[in-house]
Amino acid sequence: MTTHPVLAGDVADRATAGFRQRYAAEPAGRWAAPGRANLIGEHTDYNDGFVLPFALSLRTVVAAAGQPDGVWTVCSELADESIEFTADDLAPGRVTGWGAYVAGVVWALREAGYAVPGARLAIASDVPLGSGLSSSAALEAAVLAALVDLGGLDLPAERRPRLAQRAENAYVGAPTGIMDQSAAIRCRAGHALFLDCRTEEVEHIPFDLDAAGLAMLVVDSRAPHRHADGEYAARRRSCEQAADLLGVPALRDVPVGGLDAALGRLPDDETRRRVRHVVTEDQRVLDTVALLRASRVRDIGPLLTGSHASMRDDFEITVPEIDLAVETALAAGALGARMTGGGFGGCVLALVEAASADAVTAAVTAAYAERGFAAPGHVTVWPAPGASRLD
Ligand code: ADP
Ligand code: MG
Repeated sequence: MTTHPVLAGDVADRATAGFRQRYAAEPAGRWAAPGRANLIGEHTDYNDGFVLPFALSLRTVVAAAGQPDGVWTVCSELADESIEFTADDLAPGRVTGWGAYVAGVVWALREAGYAVPGARLAIASDVPLGSGLSSSAALEAAVLAALVDLGGLDLPAERRPRLAQRAENAYVGAPTGIMDQSAAIRCRAGHALFLDCRTEEVEHIPFDLDAAGLAMLVVDSRAPHRHADGEYAARRRSCEQAADLLGVPALRDVPVGGLDAALGRLPDDETRRRVRHVVTEDQRVLDTVALLRASRVRDIGPLLTGSHASMRDDFEITVPEIDLAVETALAAGALGARMTGGGFGGCVLALVEAASADAVTAAVTAAYAERGFAAPGHVTVWPAPGASRLD
């Protein structure tokens, strides 16, 4: 796959242009789905806890039209070759690479009993790939929306995240939770999505940056992901073992008021710190939700920064590039800043006064140059809507 870091023009126009170029025809419609950032609640998902993602104003767009049943053709502006598969070569493992995200959605729909229409698809995206902003869920959600509409399938929005997650888990083979697909599909503009990972209940929480005179910066650290898979598995194992030792189904069941007592029952300092992160992080999500419900957006800053300290010191999932972005943003006046995503690289969120966004960005860029780190990426985002048909 060739990656083009900067693609000119509006993403929806590029999807249409890609469709015309590849198929010499007009698309029947265009569907978009956003990347996402988790505002707060890291490594709480597999502990049955709480997360609070919001959809990004960066989107993936699919231009699509039907074609005879049983054949799917897909091209992406980021790939040199297009991909074609039929109903006969849909078994997991048959389509690999980036095409697996698309074939996985077709497969998961069919597994769920839906008669998926054949289709031609052309994909364009502004979501950076592999930066932790969930370009994978954006792709799945946009393809799913297109196929559901083209086929007139009866699949309500609340059931779509599970299906897209199945595509990613069982077809692509990536063991992700339900957060990414829930955000890409169910988020609302001007809101964050409060998701209880145990019950999968969601609630839309007002998160209006504009009204508060604030802006959200995303800094892409561009740090290489160091041992992320192995470290993720180790954190997960640690949490599961701790829950076993404490005799609870998951760490979500350790009340923050009973944290000290719980820590006293754990055998070693490392496990104690892992547990402290998860339990206090769940509480920070609840506290953030309470502040946002009260329209106190500005006041969530310390919770974001507290979350970062907990990830750095207790869960030990940050890297120097990430810590530098957080420290520099705070020193330059950010109200709060934290790494977002699973860790060992990825992006930092900085909540800033709208008027100081440029100064914070410049400070982070200068600090990276001074330390000899590769230049970070920057984008200002706002809470955008989830997947939808454009036209
Ligand atoms: P993230 O979801 O954090 O961006 P992942 O590794 O989960 O990172 O997903 C990235 C992968 O998703 C890419 O390597 C590619 O296979 C696929 N992908 C996402 N968006 C596109 C796109 N627009 N075109 C082609 N493939 C894409
Ligand atoms: Mg992903």
